[in-house]
Amino acid sequence: MDRVDLSIDDIPTRWYNVLPDLPRLPEKYIDNSTGAPVTREYLERLMVRAMAGQESSLERWVTIPEQVRDAYRMWRPTPLIRAVALERELRTPAQIWFKYEASSPTGSHKLNSAIAQAYFAKRDGHRRLVTDTGAGQWGSALALACRLMDLDLLVFMVRASYHQKPYRRHLMETYGAEVRPSPGGATRFGRRLLGESPDHPGSEATAVSEAIECVHDDAGSRLAVGAFTNFCLLHHSVIGLETRRQLESIGRSPDYLIASVGCGSNLGGLALPFLEDKLNGADITILAAEPEACAPLTHGEYRLDFADSEGRAPGVHTYTLGHDFVPPPIHAGGLRYHGCAPLVGLIRREGLLDAVAYPQTEVFKAGAEFARLQGYLPAPETAHAIRAVIEVADECKRTGRDATIVFSYSGHGLLDLPAYGRYNAGLLRDVEAEDFVAPRLEGIAV
Ligand SMILES: *Cc1c(COP(=O)(O)O)cnc(C)c1O
Repeated sequence: MDRVDLSIDDIPTRWYNVLPDLPRLPEKYIDNSTGAPVTREYLERLMVRAMAGQESSLERWVTIPEQVRDAYRMWRPTPLIRAVALERELRTPAQIWFKYEASSPTGSHKLNSAIAQAYFAKRDGHRRLVTDTGAGQWGSALALACRLMDLDLLVFMVRASYHQKPYRRHLMETYGAEVRPSPGGATRFGRRLLGESPDHPGSEATAVSEAIECVHDDAGSRLAVGAFTNFCLLHHSVIGLETRRQLESIGRSPDYLIASVGCGSNLGGLALPFLEDKLNGADITILAAEPEACAPLTHGEYRLDFADSEGRAPGVHTYTLGHDFVPPPIHAGGLRYHGCAPLVGLIRREGLLDAVAYPQTEVFKAGAEFARLQGYLPAPETAHAIRAVIEVADECKRTGRDATIVFSYSGHGLLDLPAYGRYNAGLLRDVEAEDFVAPRLEGIAV
């Protein structure tokens, strides 16, 4: 058996909330203007009302609204596929399985939460969502979700990607979203940054600051968040819940759960539904794969920090490289963020999560090898997980361990081909000059 499919009726009916099962609760968010924990009122002004509620809810199982489950039917349940050719190539006794989240219409796991956030925004009477996006994976997922739920969307896209990686911007605009570069002229903060440095490349952290400014200026708008928050990890629990069922149907349980981490939403989605087993003594290793150039779990410290560059977003306790850290240009745009989700930081802090970091050239080598062996071309983010899988499978070969390795195939790399092109031509470096993140496209107005 090298592929396990569930039927459409097996789409989970409830999301799993890990909060009540954690050894301790995450620290409260801090309102930076008062230094005190944020109030419900503060959160409801910033976010969709239902999201503010889900963020701190201790309800273990949350019913998935029928309209959200209907939308999930576009691509869920996703298959669990065995990487037989990779196992053979590595001559490992371990079994390697991947949960294929790239089959969503926009090509990554991000749609799981995008649909939920757009649904609740509409239900709670908000007119528009405002959000930030790096290379555009989150923005394109949310653009589709807002189209499906009939909502307006404004996206602040990291300026370097806006100009140099226009494909996902075109996708967002095709779905009907308004996309602006960050920093840009749309906000006071953006104008100030551009005034100080006209060539500012932008970052997720500048884009969040601009998005929050827009939300404050417009009562009908709320912030949508692509990762980071507890509710986002809640929505992604469908990944792990399906995986659990798929593994049970073939009589296996996971020894390793591996995912790339930008903020931790695909890792949390895959692994948190198994956390209780681990806390009850199951020998499960949860492993986060990060880019060496931006690795908060591996190289950062656990402390209070801002989620954006200006300090307008709530203060949070997590692993961070500092809110003013501007990640060097690497092709895995989805992993260029200074901090990780507080829940992921917490489980690392509690010793329940391992982390490893790899330089970009090793990551692309792993991604290209996977494509040659298995046919699927992974997103550069996903290739981080694959690099870690190869290391674990090699270790199993040394120890003769017949382990079950499961990793999150978070997205496809078909819009990242310029980066693979550089890799194939031998031009890729561990940290690239900003201009090389993607070549400018001749003839396309950007
Ligand atoms: C956004 C993204 C990631 C990283 O984000 P997480 O919040 O850590 O999951 C990983 N892979 C893909 C394909 C992405 O789009």
